[in-house]
Amino acid sequence: MRRRELVLGAAALPLVARVASRARVVVVGGGYGGATAAKYLRLFSGGAIDVALVEPEAAFVSCPMSNLLLAGASGLADITRPYDALASRHGVQLVRDRASGVDAGKRRVMLERGEPLPYDKLVLAPGISMMWDEVEGLAAERAHVLQAWKAGPETVALRRQLEQMPEGGVFAIAIPEAPYRCPPGPYERACLVADWMRQAKPRAKVLILDANEDVTSKGALFKRVWAERYAGIIEYRPQNKLVAVDGNTLKFELADEVRADVLNVLPPMRAGEIAIAAGLANSNGRWCQVHFRNFESTAAPHIHVIGDSIQIANAIPKSGHMANAQAKVVAAAITAELSGQEIDPAPMLTNTCYSFTELQRAVHVASVHEYVAAESTFKPVAGAGGLSATPSEMEARYAFNWAKTIWDDVLA
Ligand SMILES: Cc1cc2nc3c(=O)[nH]c(=O)nc-3n(C[C@H](O)[C@H](O)[C@H](O)COP(=O)(O)OP(=O)(O)OC[C@H]3O[C@@H](n4cnc5c(N)ncnc54)[C@H](O)[C@@H]3O)c2cc1C
Repeated sequence: MRRRELVLGAAALPLVARVASRARVVVVGGGYGGATAAKYLRLFSGGAIDVALVEPEAAFVSCPMSNLLLAGASGLADITRPYDALASRHGVQLVRDRASGVDAGKRRVMLERGEPLPYDKLVLAPGISMMWDEVEGLAAERAHVLQAWKAGPETVALRRQLEQMPEGGVFAIAIPEAPYRCPPGPYERACLVADWMRQAKPRAKVLILDANEDVTSKGALFKRVWAERYAGIIEYRPQNKLVAVDGNTLKFELADEVRADVLNVLPPMRAGEIAIAAGLANSNGRWCQVHFRNFESTAAPHIHVIGDSIQIANAIPKSGHMANAQAKVVAAAITAELSGQEIDPAPMLTNTCYSFTELQRAVHVASVHEYVAAESTFKPVAGAGGLSATPSEMEARYAFNWAKTIWDDVLA
């Protein structure tokens, strides 16, 4: 049975349709976590739960695969998918609006434009927000110092800056202290930009300025690729904590300042703004603590938080795959609770994360996490998961297939 659960995760639970009257769940945020939760609440309840999904954007835009845009290998359309099937196939009510507040006492979500939405259970999955003020001068430089850490127009604008960069120029990417969204993402970005530069601007350089002590994910793999494929192009500098931006100059807590032609600053991050405003970010004012068995907030009952906004358990990355897995656990738990059933006492989570080291090659890291009731947290399952030995073309094909499969799982 444990093996079966390991493979199927929350989907191994029986479908439940004995929901009292017409229960209503509101989901805020139509990203990897929220859109999955909305769909699976409908599936697991056999359509017995009314689900409204609040999302201001017209379509889903994926951060995974967005670094390929910076290498000129794809466009925004390649990482954009419609929300339509959530409504037409699964009966989710799509609410094109932005949540502006939560009244936990009255169980209502306030919207920027529409009428408040009442709920029996609320799922919050608003992703991350940027802490602009943690880096002096950054807020004022936002028009030209881009982050492109929420895929969309800014990703396209960063690509344009790279194209316009003079030959022999420097692209600098500044990484904040962990935890931040997608630990390996900045190193993948450095690789893909360097791969493009080898052809387009062979004298240009990539500087990775990392606030952390060392590469935070797939470290040995990335360092080998930088030494072998990108020698003289990529330079990695650990323990470079950015404190200020002034024009094209980056200033650090301890290290010397750096001038670069294209600056890509990833500011320190925290939970999505609506989670902060709702008073749910009870871990250092940054992340939302949850009861891991059902992802209910420790700050407010009937509100479940998933995805990048949560205070992570041991070794759980802030990833799309993980947000998708958490969404299924929460959908199963809410369906069980609303139908008076026992919630799964031992949920499981899985994660796989691919990184391109060049356009044709990729690596992966995978892990499995089990809920340990005695400690009320998730822990990695020893011996499960793994890491690529070396970049390969086969894994690049797997990465594209992973994206197609998970986009279908989230939205189709
Ligand atoms: C460059 C890059 C590469 C990445 N690569 C990978 C990868 O290969 N594999 C992987 O698994 N992960 C990857 N990630 C990480 C992944 O994108 C995130 O972990 C994932 O998107 C988190 O899902 P989420 O649902 O928490 O947030 P999101 O997917 O960001 O969704 C949040 C949604 O909430 C909406 N929202 C916010 N506030 C409100 C509000 N007030 N009202 C209504 N809606 C609101 C937003 O519009 C958004 O649609 C990558 C990230 C980046 C930046």
